[in-house]
Amino acid sequence: MSEAIKKKSAIQSMDLSGVQVDASGAVRKMEGVKNTIFAPGVNDLGNLYFLEVDHTLCQGCGECAHHCPTGAIQETEDGTRSIVDPAACMNCGQCLTHCPYGAVTERVSYVSEVFEKLKDPDTVVVTMTAPAVRYALGECFGMPMGTYVGGKVHSVLRRLGFDYIWDNEWTADVTIMEEGTELLERVTQGGKGDKPLPQFTSCCPGWIKFCESFYPDLIPHLSTCRSPVAMLGPLAKTYGAEQTGKDPKKIYTVSIMPCIAKKYEGLRPEMNASGQRDIDATINTRELAYMIKKAGIPFTSLPDEEPDPILGMSTGAATLFGTSGGVMEAALRFAYEAISGKTLVDPSIKAVRTGKGINKVEVEVPGFGPVRIAVVSGLQNAAKLCEEVRAGTSNLHFIEVMTCPGGCVNGGGQPMDDSILEASLFKKMMARVNKRFTLRKVA
Ligand code: SF4
Ligand code: SF4
Repeated sequence: MSEAIKKKSAIQSMDLSGVQVDASGAVRKMEGVKNTIFAPGVNDLGNLYFLEVDHTLCQGCGECAHHCPTGAIQETEDGTRSIVDPAACMNCGQCLTHCPYGAVTERVSYVSEVFEKLKDPDTVVVTMTAPAVRYALGECFGMPMGTYVGGKVHSVLRRLGFDYIWDNEWTADVTIMEEGTELLERVTQGGKGDKPLPQFTSCCPGWIKFCESFYPDLIPHLSTCRSPVAMLGPLAKTYGAEQTGKDPKKIYTVSIMPCIAKKYEGLRPEMNASGQRDIDATINTRELAYMIKKAGIPFTSLPDEEPDPILGMSTGAATLFGTSGGVMEAALRFAYEAISGKTLVDPSIKAVRTGKGINKVEVEVPGFGPVRIAVVSGLQNAAKLCEEVRAGTSNLHFIEVMTCPGGCVNGGGQPMDDSILEASLFKKMMARVNKRFTLRKVA
């Protein structure tokens, strides 16, 4: 066991024995969003709905369908909407975040299972927290939108009883090196053979399902890197187990995400590189807030703490993963230095961080020439670039795709903007008018 691990913080966790765990099938409101307690296994994945419309709440306004990138949510006979086919649904949650009536609900929640594991002294429960969670969790406790609460996140997870506070920022750094190296290889080989150009990023699960479903011919363009959490899961159960002297079979990995599609990713059959399930449970920011409140932990008064050593440390570049353009910027910093042998004087390549739907820029790399890149968020925008690549008219080298507009910070599992939860009177009125006309339409 490493010395660093031996010195792990001796902070006492909360006594969770009094926390009542919700039974499977119970429906609970978590930060204003209805969620069903249900912890599926990998065999359930085939026909699993991660989201569902509550028809008693749906007003038929159509906002959800307007924001759905695939047409998976459609109008039913009574004018309400339904997700018609889980295969067509990318689990992005855009329908949920845009519904003014809170009618779109979540159908998968591991919260009860995670509580049970935390209470079990025989289980080693470890965290794998995404960068974007720490920019949003504070909102659930009355802090201004965008407040950075990274230190408090480590602190609260420790008090909830997680045994090791490991962090996706660690594997985000690994992703940068792997993805940057792969880009370098593709660029220097001119995109020939089984490594064509442009290279697409591969960390966003909604985008990966979209590419597999609608553009399977472009799969060779996807970076072969796993997402950061899909790297951290197996590392926790191999290297982490070795370093801590724990039995890998007793390690339970909890992915904490700003996202709903990450629940799908965690269940993918190939996520077993460690010889067992790499990711045992996935919860989102709203569910973490629910757990903290249920355990009665005073979040805002917690001290800032560090993650645990070995799989918890990271550089500043890893934090960039939470925003659109962030993966690209971090990988470009790496590739620039690898191609040119020169150090970037200003490592902040802000041109790729605009947050616009599609953003194309050229970065002049000494000794190579222009590297042409695009940063895209929103799958409708991604489809436009996919069509260009499919048609052979794209001259790009590298494309970053994030499903959610603006990136993971605006993910489907993040706290809802109050303006959506408390939709304006005008929006509600318009929705009712739309519904009336929908119901009256001539067949
Ligand atoms: S209320 Fe509107 S946005 Fe919400 S589910 Fe119904 S049609 Fe979709
Ligand atoms: S989760 Fe995304 S893909 Fe699925 S129905 Fe909602 S908006 Fe459409």
